[in-house]
This record gives sequence, structure tokens and C-alpha cells, in this order.
Amino acid sequence: MPMKMPEVRNCAVSNCAYNSKKTCHAIAVTIGHPKSDPKCDTFFESSVRGGVDDMIAGVGACKTEDCRYNVHFECAATSIQVGMKEGDPDCLTFEMR
Ligand code: SF4
Ligand code: SF4
Repeated sequence: MPMKMPEVRNCAVSNCAYNSKKTCHAIAVTIGHPKSDPKCDTFFESSVRGGVDDMIAGVGACKTEDCRYNVHFECAATSIQVGMKEGDPDCLTFEMR
């Protein structure tokens, strides 16, 4: 069965350029930087708003191969949540295999 891009169901990282009202408006995000860590690699801060207002981001790629949802560096979860963890914008859906 073809894989479907999982949705970023919500993101609590309000200081990210792509975040508005706890929603990520990038078309797709990359998770995993470095690859053992489920950090949102698309996160950045800017005074200019990023993304597309009526889009909700999907997970385009994930480098966190230690996660049980990771298949060939793609995310096979139905959806993910992102938030701050130990000072980093992390995928909170991450589970160690
Ligand atoms: S998922 Fe990543 S890119 Fe999207 S708003 Fe959150 S921190 Fe920013
Ligand atoms: S759930 Fe796992 S595989 Fe999916 S984005 Fe998060 S860390 Fe990557």
C-alpha cells in the first residue's frame, strides 16, 4: 500500500516562522537533526511569517531511524505532534524502537 504523508496534527512551538495558532503551515517538514534526535529540522525563527495559511504541514521526511515509526527514513505514523522538549522543538510522537 502506498504511504501517505502523515499530518503535523499540532505544533506548540509558537516562535517558529511556520507556526500560527498551534498549527504548522509549511507544506512539509523534515524531522531528525541529528538523525538520532527527533528534532524538527524545519524550525526557524523569523520576523516574517512562513508557510501557506490554508495548509497543514505533513512530514516529508524523517531521519530519526531510532523511532519505531520510521521506515526507510520516512514517517509511518498516522500523524505527529511537535512541541518543546528539553529546549528543542521535537517530534513528541517519537518512540524508541
Ligand atoms: S512543526 Fe517544525 S516547522 Fe512546523 S511550526 Fe513546528 S517547529 Fe515550526
Ligand atoms: S513519529 Fe518517529 S518517524 Fe515519525 S516524524 Fe516523529 S520521530 Fe520521525
